[in-house]
Amino acid sequence: MSNPAEVWKSEKHGFDVWPDVEKYAAAGTAMKNIDQADLERMKWYGFFYRKRDAPGRYMNRIRVTAGELSASQAKAIAHLAYDFGHGVIDVTTRANVQVQGLDIQHLPEVGQRLARVGLSSKQTGHDNIRNVFAHPFSGLMADELIDTRQLCHDITALFLDSREYSDLPRKMNICLNGTEHHSAHFWTQDISFLAAPVASGGPRFHLLIGGTQGQTPHLAWWLPVWVEPNQVVDVTRSILDLFRAKGSREKRGAARFCFLVEAIGVAGVLDWLESRLPFRLEPCNERPAPAQSYDDLIGWFSQRDPGLWTMGLNVSLGRLTWRQLEGLAVLSRKWGDGQLRTTHEQGIAVINIPSRHRQAAATDAAALGLSVHADLLDRNSMACTGSQFCNIAVTETKGQMFQLLEKLRKKQIKLEGIRIHMSGCPSSCAQHFTADIGLKGVRVRRLLGTREGFDVFLGGGVGGQIEMGRPYRLGVDVDQLPTLIEEVVGEYYLRHRPGQSFSAFWRERLTDDGAKAREDEYRPPVWVCENCEHRHLAVDPPTFCPSCAGLRRFFARLEEGQAEAAEVVSPPTSERADGYLFAADESALQSDAGLAVSVGGQDLALFRVDGQVRAVSALCPHEGAPLAQGTIENGIITCPWHGWTFDACTGCALEPAGQQLNRYEALVEDGKVFVKLGGTGASLCPEKPVVTVKPRSVPNRSAVATLTVREIIDETPDVRTFRFDNSQGQIPLDRPGQFVNVCVAIEGRDIWRSFTVSSSPTRPEMLDLTIKLNRDGQVSRHLFETIRPGSAVKLRGPQGGFYFDPEQHTEPLVLISAGSGITPMISIARFLKDTGDRRSCAFVYGARTADDIIAQRECAQWASEMTHFRYYVTLSQPGVDWQGACGRIDAERIRQWVDDLARCRCFVCGPDQLMDHIRVGLLDAGVVAERIHTEAFQTQKLARV
Ligand code: SF4
Repeated sequence: MSNPAEVWKSEKHGFDVWPDVEKYAAAGTAMKNIDQADLERMKWYGFFYRKRDAPGRYMNRIRVTAGELSASQAKAIAHLAYDFGHGVIDVTTRANVQVQGLDIQHLPEVGQRLARVGLSSKQTGHDNIRNVFAHPFSGLMADELIDTRQLCHDITALFLDSREYSDLPRKMNICLNGTEHHSAHFWTQDISFLAAPVASGGPRFHLLIGGTQGQTPHLAWWLPVWVEPNQVVDVTRSILDLFRAKGSREKRGAARFCFLVEAIGVAGVLDWLESRLPFRLEPCNERPAPAQSYDDLIGWFSQRDPGLWTMGLNVSLGRLTWRQLEGLAVLSRKWGDGQLRTTHEQGIAVINIPSRHRQAAATDAAALGLSVHADLLDRNSMACTGSQFCNIAVTETKGQMFQLLEKLRKKQIKLEGIRIHMSGCPSSCAQHFTADIGLKGVRVRRLLGTREGFDVFLGGGVGGQIEMGRPYRLGVDVDQLPTLIEEVVGEYYLRHRPGQSFSAFWRERLTDDGAKAREDEYRPPVWVCENCEHRHLAVDPPTFCPSCAGLRRFFARLEEGQAEAAEVVSPPTSERADGYLFAADESALQSDAGLAVSVGGQDLALFRVDGQVRAVSALCPHEGAPLAQGTIENGIITCPWHGWTFDACTGCALEPAGQQLNRYEALVEDGKVFVKLGGTGASLCPEKPVVTVKPRSVPNRSAVATLTVREIIDETPDVRTFRFDNSQGQIPLDRPGQFVNVCVAIEGRDIWRSFTVSSSPTRPEMLDLTIKLNRDGQVSRHLFETIRPGSAVKLRGPQGGFYFDPEQHTEPLVLISAGSGITPMISIARFLKDTGDRRSCAFVYGARTADDIIAQRECAQWASEMTHFRYYVTLSQPGVDWQGACGRIDAERIRQWVDDLARCRCFVCGPDQLMDHIRVGLLDAGVVAERIHTEAFQTQKLARV
């Protein structure tokens, strides 16, 4: 099935919406009453709906082929902005101009006014060929090899008003550059013709195809052929035919031309051209030199005709007022010949100014607030439309960027060649991924509310090859950006090697050292739609909420600690005719991580294996761990809690064998994953014994809360119990043995560590953490030194699969621990006592000395009061007074102390080596693996941090 855009495109061509637009205009139809597909089709006429521009206005994107704009055209655009819009005009990175703020009633007149001055906004959006641009000073430069302006117009004539070429699988970007130096912009287009001098026969074009910007930037592929200027139109037509014939229309995310080039290769494109063109393209062996820079188009530029000048003006972030554009139209007539150029650096230039008028022209421009001078900040910054007008923007951009530049100016930051690009969302219209400093708008939900901010990327760029910026800091408040930029620029100037660029310096730093954002920040985050609370697990929020269809701007990223992946909830489902139910957007599913979804009330985990989606039951049958939080590698799911492994395709347990996940049929269509309930399971692993696991209750979800320390109890010389006030139930305790994460702020950084809860969930009003002081450890030292009764501490939990479940665990218990590994055992023992559980329980504990025994009095008292509770302690460094067992805990000793060990369920917590040893001993003693629960309190917990 084709993607939905292809469906509505096939129902009515974009060109056919115009009679409806006229009707809507005549009736003053509100945007909300216009069919969504018609709103999309209006982009065939260059009108873009702007829902957030209340009460629903339109932006008009006007095609300025080759950047050539006459004074009368500029004036007409200025007056459109004044008469019907907000009075502002934006110059884009394709040298278009955009007028914001039009009402539906005015659209027909806008079209007529444009036509009167020879302009068109047709086909400037959606699956069309966008503005064909050239070097903005084409035809003016003395060293230009080929004047490309007419070629731009010829290519435009090929597709403008053509139904054939206005229904492509996706948009297409085309440009030509007649100079010998091809800046970065020319390398990221679908089709680029780049001039090169050729000794015999005059200059020709290199042909580059398949370049892209946006979320997955890619430098264009070079085709080893020369293209003569008179072959350009035919070659373009042939490539468009190739795209129409073979481009994928299945998934919009994979429909850009670059995916076709990737699929058929450069050789495939050459074969196509050879078979379709009426001439043979001459082979070329000289690769074009890679792009190293951006074009600098601000200042005075002498033209090919002696005595004539181009005045390149600085248009900060591409935004002009209507007065400025009208004034430039007047100025161009007064001091030039009435011609202007828009530039792909979001600027504008007045051309053909005689030398004698330069000063006067510059003075008039200055009176309009425009200058031929720009500081490094203006030259090196770019911002997209942002939330002021853009439907899907997450943050405001142009205003934020203006303020940011002002603050950087005050700080006297020098941006020699360091570019800052700000995009208001992941669509990357300002190409933040390939900027030296890339800023991506994001909303972050924190404990104190949701704030707008920017994710900061460093080290992107286009030079030789495209480099994606690497994440540096996430969710930075906008008022912290100046300081952050000052720091990273200062760091570069201070420490870079001679000749090393800012980008190269930071790429190296972020690859090598701790300056990069911590790895755990880069797990796919959880986004929450603040319209409907739908949660979405992916690098970026979806364009539309799959639950309530709300726009991307409603999504906020949950700050670390606010969410667990297992909380991701899928939208309400409706059943298809074939029984499949919607499960998730395919884009939410990473190749190396699972996705937890709820389908028809059933919790499932989705994984991607060899390009296919696999759906299995959500919880590990061992301890109920959320498998979506585990890892997936080579089709093998590893449980996040105890490392049990499962084949994602069959659901069979691999290690240990004998368990089975339910497996569900899944299919992907139109970028959506569907699942059929009624899973298949046990029959898939006939060669392995299947253990039927009782359905079990799932522990409470964890929560984040700041609790007050009520009391601190000294247990041993270096162990204290920190008792927190949980009387409001902020941390939902319901299983003994689990742990919580504790957050401490050290040197301005939040550091999280895990500690097991030692109190029992039967007394939820308090939460005890029994913690041993680690003199080399930052966090425990901090807790011992600074936390006092009354201190407030942020906690997250409970977490972990190591817990006692009285419904599931019916056997006699053996609780085995050493050192501070005793804490979950105390919690379990307290739980047994409080609930009156009278099953047999052996509490086996190993400590170093008598002074190190934790909770000795309490355990001894239970043993004296309850015959079913037995308490065994052994010391590895006993004093002379010690009369109990000596030596470390070992399996042999446990076998001696516990009768009928094979019948028991065993919980073990202590150092890794001890647990390995005990586990093997218990297995030898006949305890089945499923009844051995192990918890490493050293490496495992640190790894969780
Ligand atoms: Fe809109 Fe996002 Fe593009 Fe900016 S990057 S113009 S916010 S879609």
